[in-house]
Amino acid sequence: MLPALTGLSPDSLATWLKEAGEPSFRATQILEWVWKKKVPSIDAMSNLPAALREKLSASFRLAALEHTHTQGSADTTRKFLFKLHDGRYVESVLIPANPALYGETSDRRTLCVSSQVGCAYGCKFCASGLAGFTRNLDPSEIAGQVLAAEQLSGERVDNLVFMGMGEPLANLDHLLAAIQLITGEKTLHLGARHLTVSTSGLVPQIRQLAEHPQQIRLAISLHGATDEVRQQIMPINRKWPVAELFEALDFWNAKKNQKLTLEYILIDGVNDSLEQAAILGRHARRLHAKVNLIPYNTVEGLDWKRPSDTRCRAFRDVLKQAGVSATLRLEKGHDIDAACGQLRLKQETEEGIISPAPAKR
Ligand code: SAH
Ligand code: SF4
Repeated sequence: MLPALTGLSPDSLATWLKEAGEPSFRATQILEWVWKKKVPSIDAMSNLPAALREKLSASFRLAALEHTHTQGSADTTRKFLFKLHDGRYVESVLIPANPALYGETSDRRTLCVSSQVGCAYGCKFCASGLAGFTRNLDPSEIAGQVLAAEQLSGERVDNLVFMGMGEPLANLDHLLAAIQLITGEKTLHLGARHLTVSTSGLVPQIRQLAEHPQQIRLAISLHGATDEVRQQIMPINRKWPVAELFEALDFWNAKKNQKLTLEYILIDGVNDSLEQAAILGRHARRLHAKVNLIPYNTVEGLDWKRPSDTRCRAFRDVLKQAGVSATLRLEKGHDIDAACGQLRLKQETEEGIISPAPAKR
């Protein structure tokens, strides 16, 4: 399989052109076709000589992703399903101008991007972890989701969250290369401040990312304020317990001036006690973090439930009383908003690529 042109950094493209005996200004033209004009094929790059188009086509595919399905409509959340060269699937979710999603009221379009096929971390509530880990996405497959979403919707993506399938910090090299493509002036040119990486808490990588020069935002999937509660649902907590995670977050705060987000799914009878809320409030205050409360979205095959609206509000109020900025979104009918990974799971199961193990609590 030929590499995708969308995986090439401007520098690598320049090197390739030089080796092919082509003048350097062609790089600017090619980058414009790919990332700005978003052409559907190499052949459509009409100001390139035919010979160069042929050379390019002999060495590269244009894109890494083949769009196969869209769920939702232009004025609602849309989920795009993409087929990869090895027959696997990933999905991205485009959330339109939307009130109070991911912690902020916003009139911006947010794209939720996947970083891996499956996930190795096995959080007990999550569809992405259900069938285990298959592979990392490469930079063209990660940045390509943004390009494809803009092509398919005809709209510009304003915000990007790495909250789709996979654990982005377990694929850090490819993530950083993709971020270069997403933020680069000659490529997608989205501001680093509009990018949020979400992690289940990989401590060494959080520290590494803290040292990264760009002002990327960080969200932590906390989902439990104590080891006791968190490790019931997130196996990673045994490796990186809460105290070590918070130390890494202190380090993050020392390096960055963006507010951290703590994500907290509310699961009935598991992590929704007001005692957890009080402990969470103390941590969030100390870290100057905002808290994003997400009532659990039901996943087929898993029997976790969201708490009642009354309980969700009571949990939020404890945080507010502790002086923490906390958001809670209660409206229903957003079944495709969260729980990224479900569409791909369904597709791959139907095609017999995977047979998810029966879910256990
Ligand atoms: N692996 C990374 C990023 C992907 S998950 C991480 O865990 O942070 C993106 C977010 O969706 C995480 O906070 C995850 O806990 C949450 N999530 C997973 N399953 C969910 C569900 N069924 N309902 C609501 N949120 C869910
Ligand atoms: Fe993986 Fe994140 Fe899902 Fe946990 S919540 S299984 S880390 S994708």
